[in-house]
Amino acid sequence: MPRYFIWTIGCQMNKAESRQIAAYLDSAGYQAATSFGNADLVVLNTCVVRQSAENKVFGTLSLLKGLKDEHPNLRILVTGCFVNSHTQDLQRRFPHIDLLFKPGHYPELVAWGHEQGISIEQDLLRYQASDARMAPSPCALIPIIQGCDNFCSYCIVPYRRGREVSRPVEKIVCEVRELSKRGTREVTLVGQNVDSYGHDLPEHPDLADLLSALDSIDDLARIRFLTNHPKDVSLKLIEAIASLKKVCEHLELPVQSGDDDMLKAMRRGYSVERYRELVRTIRCKIPQMSLSTDIIVGFPGETEEQFERSLSLVREMRFDVVHVAAYSPRPGTIAWRECQDNIPAELKKERLNKIEELQTGIASEIDSQLQGKEAEVLVEDKKGGKWFGRTRNNKLVFFEDAGDWLGQLVRIQIEKTSPWSLGGEIKE
Ligand code: SAM
Ligand code: SF4
Repeated sequence: MPRYFIWTIGCQMNKAESRQIAAYLDSAGYQAATSFGNADLVVLNTCVVRQSAENKVFGTLSLLKGLKDEHPNLRILVTGCFVNSHTQDLQRRFPHIDLLFKPGHYPELVAWGHEQGISIEQDLLRYQASDARMAPSPCALIPIIQGCDNFCSYCIVPYRRGREVSRPVEKIVCEVRELSKRGTREVTLVGQNVDSYGHDLPEHPDLADLLSALDSIDDLARIRFLTNHPKDVSLKLIEAIASLKKVCEHLELPVQSGDDDMLKAMRRGYSVERYRELVRTIRCKIPQMSLSTDIIVGFPGETEEQFERSLSLVREMRFDVVHVAAYSPRPGTIAWRECQDNIPAELKKERLNKIEELQTGIASEIDSQLQGKEAEVLVEDKKGGKWFGRTRNNKLVFFEDAGDWLGQLVRIQIEKTSPWSLGGEIKE
């Protein structure tokens, strides 16, 4: 059997799309390989959100050039945000790539396969419902909306993924129903801005409508979704989370900065006070809600005072998780065109470290409150001899046991806590 290897970096959307690509290749009789070295076909699912990610793509492409020189039959496919509209230029620069296709543009993958004599199934839903060979993971990522219309000034995503296109509710429900019949217990609905879901569909369903439709699938235990946009989270959505039993109490709500002028320059469309009010409403309606956020430090012109406002917002909000990134100018974006990247790299790093240090202390305090408590964990997999899974509010929990717990909801007595994960014992 021919083998494929998928290399994935970047966001959950990329991970979700890699799962779909794996299913397409599975339909053509391919099997997963463990590394580039033992694959006949390689897919690079790329990210260029920051320069450091793009550098990894260049590094991997040059490694694969060497591999292809040794094994000329190796097929190299590239997708993800590295693929811009000038595919012919990319093809000229990297002649060892066999196919470049934009994120989610599977008809191009199928058509290329057919030209090469690789018969990839066109209708993934039909294939997953009847002939799929790969067992689905207990926790699956499901793309629900492609692209982004927001054009935050620093972000390259709208230029690479295009405008928002939602998948119809029926298709998503059908996919989730099939996956759950075959063993998936939890789905995470993914999109760059899931709050925009449905506005482009004929009957304008929204995310809350989609959640209610999925909540009634019998075999499914949990539903998550990401990423939300603070300017778009509706009261209807908050009420849906509060009332639907399978929807978990966790939100990814990127704030990006604690300073109003920075938020304006980033074109985020909300103020710090509006963000505060939103968090207040969420916590009032759903007190057990856990919150993650993203922050960018060193955006052009960020003064010490403006940075301090981000730091004090982190202190005030007590997020469960904070992802901090140093601003990286991305060619073609508004900030790249209009602003000078004038914060030195060392200062960006210093600011990033300050936020991480503060957040480590906060997460450590939040998690230590779980010591001695019992948690319901959905078991995702095993790593280093330990089972692991997540609580409803997204805390990662490890435990050791000789039984087979994959895909099961288990009760764990929490015995160890840290800012990053929890450890405990299974309660029979
Ligand atoms: N759609 C989400 C949102 O509204 O924030 C997140 C998607 S974005 C691709 C993921 C994260 O990457 C962002 O939250 C931001 O913190 C970070 N990011 C995006 N562009 C960046 C840039 N040019 N420099 C540094 N970080 C960036
Ligand atoms: Fe990028 Fe902003 Fe769209 Fe998120 S909402 S993907 S940060 S443009």
